[in-house]
Amino acid sequence: MKGLMMHRPLLISGLLDYAAEVHDHATIVSRRVEGDIHRTDYRQMQARVAQMSFALEQLGIVLGDRVATLAWNGYRHMELYFAISNIGAICHTINPRLSAEQLIYITHHAADRILFTDLTFVPVLEKLRDQLPADMRYVIMTDAAHMPETTLDALCYEDLLDGQPTKRDWPDLDEETAAALCYTSGTTGEPKGVLYTHRSSVLHALQTGVSGFVADMGRDARILPVVPLFHVNAWGLPYLAPMMGADLVHPGPALDGESLWTLMETEGVTSAWGVPTIWQGLLGAIEKHGRKPAALRHMVVGGSAAPRSMIEAYEKVGVTVNHAWGMTEMSPIGSHGALPWQIDGAPFDERMALKSTQGRRAFGVEFKIVGDDGQRQPHDGKAKGELYVRGNNITSGYYNNEAATAKAMDAEGWFGTGDVASIRDDGYLQLHDRAKDLIKSGGEWISSIDVENIAAAHPKVAQAAVIAVPHPKWDERPLLVVVPKSDDDRPTLDELHQLMLHSLARWQLPDDIVYVAQLPMTATGKISKLTLRDQLGEYVHPDLRTGENG
Ligand code: AMP
Repeated sequence: MKGLMMHRPLLISGLLDYAAEVHDHATIVSRRVEGDIHRTDYRQMQARVAQMSFALEQLGIVLGDRVATLAWNGYRHMELYFAISNIGAICHTINPRLSAEQLIYITHHAADRILFTDLTFVPVLEKLRDQLPADMRYVIMTDAAHMPETTLDALCYEDLLDGQPTKRDWPDLDEETAAALCYTSGTTGEPKGVLYTHRSSVLHALQTGVSGFVADMGRDARILPVVPLFHVNAWGLPYLAPMMGADLVHPGPALDGESLWTLMETEGVTSAWGVPTIWQGLLGAIEKHGRKPAALRHMVVGGSAAPRSMIEAYEKVGVTVNHAWGMTEMSPIGSHGALPWQIDGAPFDERMALKSTQGRRAFGVEFKIVGDDGQRQPHDGKAKGELYVRGNNITSGYYNNEAATAKAMDAEGWFGTGDVASIRDDGYLQLHDRAKDLIKSGGEWISSIDVENIAAAHPKVAQAAVIAVPHPKWDERPLLVVVPKSDDDRPTLDELHQLMLHSLARWQLPDDIVYVAQLPMTATGKISKLTLRDQLGEYVHPDLRTGENG
């Protein structure tokens, strides 16, 4: 027998409407690209979102259209999340750190109709314009006074709002309507689109909201997302914050330790979210000032493994660290490290050991581990295998990419993460390795295979392999290992960089080159990265070398 309760669609528009009514005290602070600090609240945001939605329709945007953003964290970017999705269009956030080639690829693959850009990226777009979709319109996210001279034939964000009605009843969309699109380069090959629905986004906010780490933040949460709005919806914060009534402090483009320290101090930030590289930078500023920003007491670290030394350094200055794991394909939060209050009194070492794991699964996310033999492994803390996940916030397939979808999903409908993990019987997840051949530098992906393929195309290279080596600031950096065709005429790193710059961004280039006589091979004739990593275990990144090498 079916129950007799209403079925109302879970829609993103409901989050902002709720916040405007119930969390009218909460504020949204943004350090703007223009340089100043801007303040608003959910009520004003609701009005401007209505205005932008009317403007979008006047520009011809209809249900299912993709509207792209290329922008830092700030109130205008957050307004677009709602203005675009609330009318049934799809907010496609683009990562500005992608190479030009990838940016061109994804704007075409997504068939974006409009691109909203911060002032910062106007010069890049001017350069690429001829290769971007010919009929795409551009809107610069600023006011008339700051509009630059540009060849883009661009509209001005604030001008679009002018004179539009500030109230709107949102359409009753089907909750499965696509709301947002984010491309990930976290797998090999071209970037792949993850297409979130209204339902998955609202459920993710609800599921994150009930998880322990939101409680950890306290009732007076004032959250600074360094995690970008252009990457996995800033870990869902634009939806979660209005739902829980949290203040937001958007840092704009200034993400160095000192700028963040100052903004946190002056704005009374209590919780900050971002990748380990950023929090390493903030540690430097804390050392310089001799203290943490006064109100800061909570931090979410994820996107890459947080080193235990870093977690301890923050805990020692009074910041509770929550080490979280997730993926673009998971909306993204999969697990997190809020510890149960019952072990508050446990020894420091014991608590830090738990916090160094990837934590326990969020409600609504299921885990399974699959061994090399394809068999499901026990959750005993010992057995390792690829981690598979299932849940309402997890992708069921990539946007317009059947081949990548078939590769990622198993016969039972679970999604393969490409992470190699073990799980304890009390649920703590420990990541050990990556099955995907990728390097994560400062929270952003570099494909080893892409770099290898380019290097291998050089006439002086017989074989090439790329592995990740640890780096104190960037977590990992790529190291290029080359078998030269002739020892008398080895390719230099600079020669290979010249070749790579055609299709890779500068930060994706390997920092160093090691020449070897041969590469270790697996039984199936592939380069054994595992053995190569072992063989180069003593290798030290140039940034860490001391003594006569400087
Ligand atoms: P992305 O989709 O770019 O957010 O990347 C997701 C991937 O980043 C995961 O599959 C992991 O390989 C890695 N990752 C994310 N969080 C962590 C973490 N806490 N520890 C280790 N690796 C992580």
